[in-house]
Amino acid sequence: MSRIAYVNGRYLPHDQAHVHVEDRGYQFSDGVYEVSAVCGGRVIDEEPHLDRLERSLGELRMNLPLPRTALRLVTREVLRRNRVRDGIVYLQVTRGAAARDHPFPEAAEGAVVLTARPVRWPERAADDDGAAVVSMPDGRWGRCDVKSVSLLPNVLAKQAAREKDAYEAWFVDPEGRVTEGSSTNAWIVDDAGRAVTRDLQSNILGGITRRRVIRLAREAGIEVEERPFTLDEAQAAPEAFLTSTTSFVRAIVRIDGRPVGDDKPGPVTLRLRDLYLSYCRGGLSNR
Ligand code: PMP
Repeated sequence: MSRIAYVNGRYLPHDQAHVHVEDRGYQFSDGVYEVSAVCGGRVIDEEPHLDRLERSLGELRMNLPLPRTALRLVTREVLRRNRVRDGIVYLQVTRGAAARDHPFPEAAEGAVVLTARPVRWPERAADDDGAAVVSMPDGRWGRCDVKSVSLLPNVLAKQAAREKDAYEAWFVDPEGRVTEGSSTNAWIVDDAGRAVTRDLQSNILGGITRRRVIRLAREAGIEVEERPFTLDEAQAAPEAFLTSTTSFVRAIVRIDGRPVGDDKPGPVTLRLRDLYLSYCRGGLSNR
């Protein structure tokens, strides 16, 4: 079965799914995106993803390209046409095609692309003995809260991590504090069993999974602190983990080659992972 993409109002086979060579996303990274997980046919946290999309677009002084109802319908149709019940849906909006010039063009229509592909999440997430991360200086721009398609530092960091046999790269600010991963939010568990993740400022992305895990943790009586933590604190912590739409809750068992805790996923991480998995499987309420 060939994959189908939605491109500016049309459903097209992938080999015909093109955008213009002067699309501003291609030339200037002038665009934003969302990646949502689909579990058992349900789009996880669809509304928070649409809220974040709208906010990112607002920072670029753009509007949603289609009303939310239409975006939801197109999402369903892309999932249906690609027969995805478990997987991801990718949505990208750019300022569209215009003669190349830096200022916003007067009359460009936003370009919208949606794609979907299957991923076998539950097995993957539930059956995991933890990941390694490596740290590197955070050399990104100052607006990491905008989910922009400008991902070059993230791509280079992830590649550097993979070349060191690590799953993720953790960015560290000039004060030695972890900001986030190249495509995930960073967490530790402190000695008192509290889950700690960096507070939301313009230097990290407000992850939808981060937000959901904070809620699930608090509902389950696990304390959460939103504050910066240093790389040293993370290396000495009993547990560390990461969160994202495509990684769910994943234990970190090594930071820069040094074991975290006893080198295997810890109890708070596993509890949060299971809470998040049940939430995705529809076992916990969607608030
Ligand atoms: N930080 C960055 C830099 C990311 O790219 C992502 C993934 N989009 C995240 C955090 C996690 O966000 P989410 O939980 O919404 O996938």
